[in-house]
Amino acid sequence: MRSQWRDTGLWFSRPTETKSSRQIRVAVCDKASHFTRANSSEAAIGTVPKLLASHRTCQPTSGGDLGVNRLGSARVVTDSGSVWLVVTDVDGTLIGDDDGWLRLGESLAVHPEVLLIPNSSRPLASLKKSWARQSRPIPFRAQVGALGTEVSIGGDDVGWSHRFSSFDRTPIDRLMTNMGFQTNGDEFQTPLKASYAVPKDRWGRVAELLQVCPPLKVVTSGVSDFDAIPVGAGKHAPIQFLADRFRVDPSRVVAVGDSTNDLDMLQSAQHRIVVGNADPALIDAIRGRSFVSHGTHANGVLEGLQALGLAN
Ligand SMILES: [Mg+2]
Repeated sequence: MRSQWRDTGLWFSRPTETKSSRQIRVAVCDKASHFTRANSSEAAIGTVPKLLASHRTCQPTSGGDLGVNRLGSARVVTDSGSVWLVVTDVDGTLIGDDDGWLRLGESLAVHPEVLLIPNSSRPLASLKKSWARQSRPIPFRAQVGALGTEVSIGGDDVGWSHRFSSFDRTPIDRLMTNMGFQTNGDEFQTPLKASYAVPKDRWGRVAELLQVCPPLKVVTSGVSDFDAIPVGAGKHAPIQFLADRFRVDPSRVVAVGDSTNDLDMLQSAQHRIVVGNADPALIDAIRGRSFVSHGTHANGVLEGLQALGLAN
């Protein structure tokens, strides 16, 4: 929702008071629709447009912020102090509803301070096919694949996987095959992620039997997804790495998910969004510690970001 502030040439969004802090946020744009963000910890909502109007000559900057301090003076903030990292699951969360995808993309287009990072159990090569099927692209600042064993920034491998180079899935495959389990298909396999179909009621026993293998971590979700990955991997694992890389304070990290394999990622973030179509087991596990959206898929992502003041 936008309004124009009298004859200033600036447009502003409806002021939003975030739940996470005492900040009041207003998105401001010029005629070219370049949004910046104004933050004020002291000003009342009604005074923010007045403060902005006194700075009508300010120039929106790429990714920069218009900060308003307690005395009402303004300055352009160009450091990363206001950047947010939003790390989101993909299947059932970011994708699955085309209208929601479009709405989320439109909102993020005017919120350059939000760095969106898909984080999937699927390998990056598999995600690439999914992005190609979307009607419009959404820019990602980085991508995480294969349960936290792959990280790509700007399409480049940043060497994250090398830390797991000692992992060998051969004994896992041998044991799983001997027990009669089938893999989940080539698209879901990598050297660092052995993905099998195992009935839910056998997860615990099979995980115990795998303890004869060199150290590994088991991640389960849905009704039969059973993955063996290196110790130290997982959807949560690269979040601190990415926060450091983009100089984002941990207090500005948001995780979004729909499945129990998102639990470690959600627990590692200070802000958590669970979409409306989430597995009830996830909602039960994290009840009271997350924003649970009514909207499903990307609609739920958008709803959660709106609640945090990070989307229109
Ligand atoms: Mg999912």
